[in-house]
Amino acid sequence: LLRATGLTKAFGAHEVLKGIDLDVKRGEVVALIGPSGSGKTTVLRSLNGLETPDAGVLSFDGGPVVDFANRGDRRSAERSRLALRDRSAMVFQHHNLFPHMTVLQNVMEGPVQVKGVPKPQAEEEALALLGRVGLADKRDSYPFQLSGGQQQRVGIVRALALKPDLLLFDEPTSALDPELVGEVLSVISELVAEGWTMVIVTHELGFARQVADEVLFMDDGVVVERGAPSQVFTAPVHERTRRFLDRIL
Ligand code: ATP
Repeated sequence: LLRATGLTKAFGAHEVLKGIDLDVKRGEVVALIGPSGSGKTTVLRSLNGLETPDAGVLSFDGGPVVDFANRGDRRSAERSRLALRDRSAMVFQHHNLFPHMTVLQNVMEGPVQVKGVPKPQAEEEALALLGRVGLADKRDSYPFQLSGGQQQRVGIVRALALKPDLLLFDEPTSALDPELVGEVLSVISELVAEGWTMVIVTHELGFARQVADEVLFMDDGVVVERGAPSQVFTAPVHERTRRFLDRIL
């Protein structure tokens, strides 16, 4: 579904990505783990067009091949960015809901404004999705009236409403109180069971192990190790992966 090769990105003199390769097949769940500052969020943002890499190639099945080192592609970066944004939807660490809009308006906003879905259809679809995560009765609430877990579930529904090919989760539970983590992970698990394609940045290693088809361990802008969760978590090959897991587990 998605292939990225050689993504690099520097912020000033700081090389945050030093050549990242990523292959995501349809229906697959890829977990990105690694220490804070290793570049995980920057990878996700690059896949979504929120960040423009300095070099590397990115393509979705049936979409344009964006070569970030190519001046022509960079010149048409806006077009490429939109092409990428259309294919995926991001769930942020802090839900990023619009505070002045109701739950229903938040979910309808993307389909109506970005995709031009007629309002009655967008509303019907939004209500169906809210029902699936147990939040239909919160349709007219504002984000501040919800718990953190409920807000994040709305964040997930808002991403689903865009009907993306790929869901990107950026530490979706790390801003939550511990007792609210479970309800959000269980929604994500249901989406995994439904066959959604996802890339998840997470510090919840137990969860990553449970749902991921492939785990990538990143450190200092490179993918140090990748493989099936059973391999990466129980028999890591690299010393850096071992040190990280020892610290966390
Ligand atoms: P965390 O788990 O803390 O979110 P991460 O692995 O997701 O970490 P990134 O958020 O990708 O790491 O950040 C990698 C590095 O890039 C960090 O040192 C960060 O300070 C830096 N960085 C990220 N975005 C910017 C930016 N817009 N300008 C300057 N530096 C940035």
